[in-house]
Amino acid sequence: MQTFIVLLGPPGAGKGTQALAIAEKLDIPHISSGDLFRENLRNQTELGKLAKSYMDRGELVPDEVTISMVRERLSRVDCARGALLDGFPRTPAQAVALDGILKEFGSRVNWVPYINVPDEVLVGRLTGRWTCRTDPTHIYNLKTNPPTKPGVCDLCGGELYQRDDDKLETVQNRIKVYMKQTMPLIEYYRNAGVLVEVEGQQGIEKVSSDLLAAITK
Ligand code: ADP
Ligand code: ADP
Repeated sequence: MQTFIVLLGPPGAGKGTQALAIAEKLDIPHISSGDLFRENLRNQTELGKLAKSYMDRGELVPDEVTISMVRERLSRVDCARGALLDGFPRTPAQAVALDGILKEFGSRVNWVPYINVPDEVLVGRLTGRWTCRTDPTHIYNLKTNPPTKPGVCDLCGGELYQRDDDKLETVQNRIKVYMKQTMPLIEYYRNAGVLVEVEGQQGIEKVSSDLLAAITK
């Protein structure tokens, strides 16, 4: 049996933070489309060069390239038991494409936890986010989840940095883009009977336990 989970929620809802614990618990890989793009940026691939201008503006990278990137990732052997998707799908076309890809595997999206956080909280979370250079799944916040030693990752000792797209102007646009292009997915997955809502404005551990309870019930 494969388990495919899509983490849904606005930028700053805590998807990346929660993904680390859930993927470990369920023993499935955590696939973050944003991390895949940033890896391509670092390695200066053609895909990275194409994605950069969109990411810098806080716009979505076109569906076609995003879908083929995720399709390739999902076809690797480590996804044999499923995967936890974070940041994908983000448009109705991507959601339909994902259904098609999983159907080819004889599988489907099993759960879509929607992490609900009010808009006014998101900006503060994103502008205070610090990410580990060594492992991008290690995520901190100056106010709500600070590292023990400033600038250093508690988990691996890596250097912490602020993402270029976490500056105020880009953050505001990313939230706007989410409202317009990604919000419709809530209805899409609710209609498919796989949506579970989780209150995201609680301590990190409480959100984790609510999430796990929702997807294992
Ligand atoms: P997303 O992947 O949804 O954009 P992240 O997991 O990167 O969100 O979290 C965004 C910011 O909010 C980070 O700085 C993170 O440390 C912080 N954060 C995550 N979950 C919580 C929470 N439950 N309460 C307060 N801050 C949180
Ligand atoms: P966050 O969770 O903080 O919103 P991500 O790391 O998921 O940020 O995404 C960063 C950027 O990468 C997005 O603003 C967008 O430009 C690009 N991106 C990530 N995932 C997708 C996607 N599924 N479709 C299109 N663009 C994407």
